[in-house]
Amino acid sequence: MSNALVWFRRDLRLADNPALQAALDAGHVPVPVYIHAPEEEAPWAPGAASRAWLHRSLQALDADLQARGSRLVIRQGDSLSELEKLISETQAAALHWNRLYEPASIARDTRIKQGLKSRGIPVESHNAALLVEPWTVQTGQGGPYRVFTPFWKNARQRLEGLRAGSAPKRLPEPPVTLAGLDVGDLGLRPPAHEPDWDAGFWEHWAPGEAGALEMLEVFLDGALRGYKAERDKPGRVGTSRLSPHLHFGEISPRTIVKALQDGDWPAAIEADLTHYLSELGWREFSHHLLYHFPQTAQDNLNPKFEDFPWVDPDEALLSAWKRGRTGVPLVDAGMRELWTTGWMHNRVRMVAASFLTKNLRLHWRHGADWFWDTLVDADLANNTQGWQWTAGTGADAAPYFRIFSPVAQAGRFDPAGDYIRRWVPELAQLPDKALAAPWEHADLLREKAPEYPDQPLVDLRESREAALAAYETVKADG
Ligand code: FAD
Repeated sequence: MSNALVWFRRDLRLADNPALQAALDAGHVPVPVYIHAPEEEAPWAPGAASRAWLHRSLQALDADLQARGSRLVIRQGDSLSELEKLISETQAAALHWNRLYEPASIARDTRIKQGLKSRGIPVESHNAALLVEPWTVQTGQGGPYRVFTPFWKNARQRLEGLRAGSAPKRLPEPPVTLAGLDVGDLGLRPPAHEPDWDAGFWEHWAPGEAGALEMLEVFLDGALRGYKAERDKPGRVGTSRLSPHLHFGEISPRTIVKALQDGDWPAAIEADLTHYLSELGWREFSHHLLYHFPQTAQDNLNPKFEDFPWVDPDEALLSAWKRGRTGVPLVDAGMRELWTTGWMHNRVRMVAASFLTKNLRLHWRHGADWFWDTLVDADLANNTQGWQWTAGTGADAAPYFRIFSPVAQAGRFDPAGDYIRRWVPELAQLPDKALAAPWEHADLLREKAPEYPDQPLVDLRESREAALAAYETVKADG
């Protein structure tokens, strides 16, 4: 049997993996390969939390392959040269990979495809990551969508008859002589001289395909019921927490949708199912936007904001935000959840992002960069869309003038203060009424939480008005 390389990237799974399946279907011995080349993704090489996740995910993939008789061959260096070496070492008859949609990856993959094809090596790419690839959904005029609702109305019609493959039970062994690195050689873990900052992550997460499938099962058995209402409450597990697994391709969105479509659900949860599906739709929409507007990873989608008077970054302000020391409990709780677990609840992401871009009036890129480094689900499409949406600079965005009040949001979505007490434990002894805006209860704060800032970093009302005044300047331009 001839060999075929299967180049794993962010499709770190065996089930519903079209590249792997295509190699098998063609009767080849799949040679699973991972090439570590972070500089090829610059300026969006994986951040520290993503690298820590990747380390474990690659170990899990290798173990899953070995359990089926195969193994992961790990290399490091320029992807094209490494692939060329591997093709000659294995006499590979073909190369398969699953597509990525970030601008740097598209440019790299196009170059590699052309290079290898011109040398007569069959290269095939496949869709593993999306329900609908960005170029397959178009407006009536034939262009890309900028508004979610019509995008999703169109895209979701394509989910009828959707299929998701299962994992092969056995795999043939790749050539035994083929050398590779250990995952540990890639330096993805935090360096030894740094404190074990990722230690808290692994109480919450199990990177790898088995962890992803378990997370899906737990969600389908639990939080799916009531998802529509409960997904906004950060103090409870009301969402699926599949985002890092989806980002690394440890589970396919088709597998998730198929499970939703095939389940024997009571009619009462129809709205929950539809709503969950639409969140997966936002993931699709984000990829659609980044593909069609690749500049938006750094530039405002709405050009009106080019002259927006952002405040010059002040390290002290930014650092207080990053460390969860703003004096605004809901924001601080979110930023500390992020630091400790590598993840933050969506509602709180919006509040923390709004505080940065509107109350502190710092450019959204400062926040996006921090999230990039600290989120285990850091994803260029979703992160860009999330920040531009909240900042009001993006597609179908919350208008800039709609400024989240972190106090009202805490009252509405964390009324008993479970979330704030959990992540800002020095406030735990405050009564519920003082938790959202402790500066309004100076005596209580001094007595029960003397170490917490006695004032927010900025006055919420004044900073809100300043933000609205700043917005008037670009509105007038438009
Ligand atoms: P669930 O509610 O269970 O949703 C299921 C899946 O749908 C998620 O796993 C995710 O893949 C997708 N999804 C849900 N909400 C969104 C959304 N608003 N936009 C795009 N996809 C969505 N998500 C990331 O995956 N990576 C990021 O880097 C990221 N950065 C964000 C930054 C900001 C400022 C904001 C406001 C949102 C960001 N999001 C990001 C979107 C969202 O917060 C997370 O996808 C969600 O919190 C993940 O939790 P979950 O898996 O439990 O979500």
